[in-house]
Amino acid sequence: KMKEVILVYLDRSGGLQKFVQDCKKYNDSKQSYAVYRFIISINPSDITELDATLGNYILHHPLQAAQIFQSVCFVAVKTLSLIEQLQTEAQISILLKPTHLPPLPSYVLSLSAYPFNYTSPRFYMSEGIVIAMGTVTKYTQGARFLCTEETCPFSEGFRCIRVHCPGATESATVRTDFVCSLCSSPLQEDMKFRVLGDKQIVEMIDAKILNALKGYSIDKSHFRIQAFTLFLRDELANKMTIGNHYRIIGIPACVQNGLQATACIEVTSVQLYKPNGPSFVSDNFKYLLSLTSSSCWRFTAVLANIFASQVVPPGTYNTLKLAILLSLVQTCEKENADYLDLLIMTSDTLVIDRLLNYSLCLLPRGIRHPPSSDIFPSVSKDKHGSASIQACSAVLAKGGICYIGDLSSYKKDKLELLQSVLESRTTTVFIPGKKYGEEADQQVTVSVQTNFWSFVDVDSSSKKNIQKENFLIGQMDVSLIPFNLVDGFGLLIYNEFPSYRLSSPVVHHILKKAINPEAILYKASQQFRTQDYEE
Ligand SMILES: [Zn+2]
Repeated sequence: KMKEVILVYLDRSGGLQKFVQDCKKYNDSKQSYAVYRFIISINPSDITELDATLGNYILHHPLQAAQIFQSVCFVAVKTLSLIEQLQTEAQISILLKPTHLPPLPSYVLSLSAYPFNYTSPRFYMSEGIVIAMGTVTKYTQGARFLCTEETCPFSEGFRCIRVHCPGATESATVRTDFVCSLCSSPLQEDMKFRVLGDKQIVEMIDAKILNALKGYSIDKSHFRIQAFTLFLRDELANKMTIGNHYRIIGIPACVQNGLQATACIEVTSVQLYKPNGPSFVSDNFKYLLSLTSSSCWRFTAVLANIFASQVVPPGTYNTLKLAILLSLVQTCEKENADYLDLLIMTSDTLVIDRLLNYSLCLLPRGIRHPPSSDIFPSVSKDKHGSASIQACSAVLAKGGICYIGDLSSYKKDKLELLQSVLESRTTTVFIPGKKYGEEADQQVTVSVQTNFWSFVDVDSSSKKNIQKENFLIGQMDVSLIPFNLVDGFGLLIYNEFPSYRLSSPVVHHILKKAINPEAILYKASQQFRTQDYEE
């Protein structure tokens, strides 16, 4: 009965027409393959409406459902004589791709929930950010095997066909120790017929993990951090970009790699996830705007004046706070966006660092770069020994802010790389072929779409015993970092309060906060909360 319903569904959905066209391409090529691969798009609502049993079967047993489609398609090929070269049903490989899944919790696979349910090989939705990405390599889609016993009927024809299944390793498809199911003689692969496809391994993390990469998070909840492996095959290879947020549909699987088992997801569809823009402006801000609408400066000035009153008293660091707010509103996930990179020259590093950290936490993609790691994408070996490009801080901060701390602590080569990224907004990763078992060297260019924040501790020049030149009044000492790098930043801010004469409100603030970190010291902090600025 299911076969009948499948035929009706394919006919009504236009799937049959597409199948006939795909067959025509194979037939016209006149080439004989071990496996003929077909993609069938499934609309779960439509198919469940047509027949609930079949809809349920596709959603919960997609691999078995694909076998029923396989036999329907084989009958279609034979009755309509669609592909002359095709001989057996085993040569047809069907990939079912649901257009969407029912929006119910049981179809969602959270990458941060524990335990991770990878045991049932059915369709799930998941979402996350691409943190690492491998190069595109080949895998065996299908292979033809022949029995080595000449008198056996399986020593010819297309009877022993092996096809890749979700979650299976290469050795499950092709190996040398398979035996004939008729006579138990060893099987041998007919290499002429091996069908290769593209494969790309991608690591994805739950977007919540970005909270852990902020300086100190407003959200104090605990969670588990783990990247998950996704397999992108054939038409999906190169469909993801490192640093982007995606929604995927896929089938979880467990890959056995020696003694280790790795949970992974075999992806069937990829969709870019677009976060909703600011949807809400608090009543207090709306009221303030109406009060200050007579002047084009007043609203902005008040906003900057009271910003971050949890960290510094209102009215202090106003120039810097205005620049921070400008840089914050500049963040978006658009290509070719405008960036406002901030460089602050200061001896007052404690307060500046707290201020930048606080501001960073207002963004979903605010990343505080840990000094011990790489700022820009780097290459490393994945579990299988292939090259994998790691996103690192700058790419994870895509469409947000990457705060790289004190520049004077970085070595010359890192500073040069930073300068080139500030100028070109791209960085190039070199993958030596030899090291990663590939024939040719590869270069991958990754775009860096983030605003950079940094500061330079001007006091460190005296610590480092750097000879200070005589400066004219009004001229700044930027000898700590290369002048070209300073130029790369969009805005340079010289510190307003040198540490030896911190204003008394700042000192009061720091002391009071040290005694009672949760204290609300100003009325403005109650009226315009961190959450209001975040929104
Ligand atoms: Zn045999």
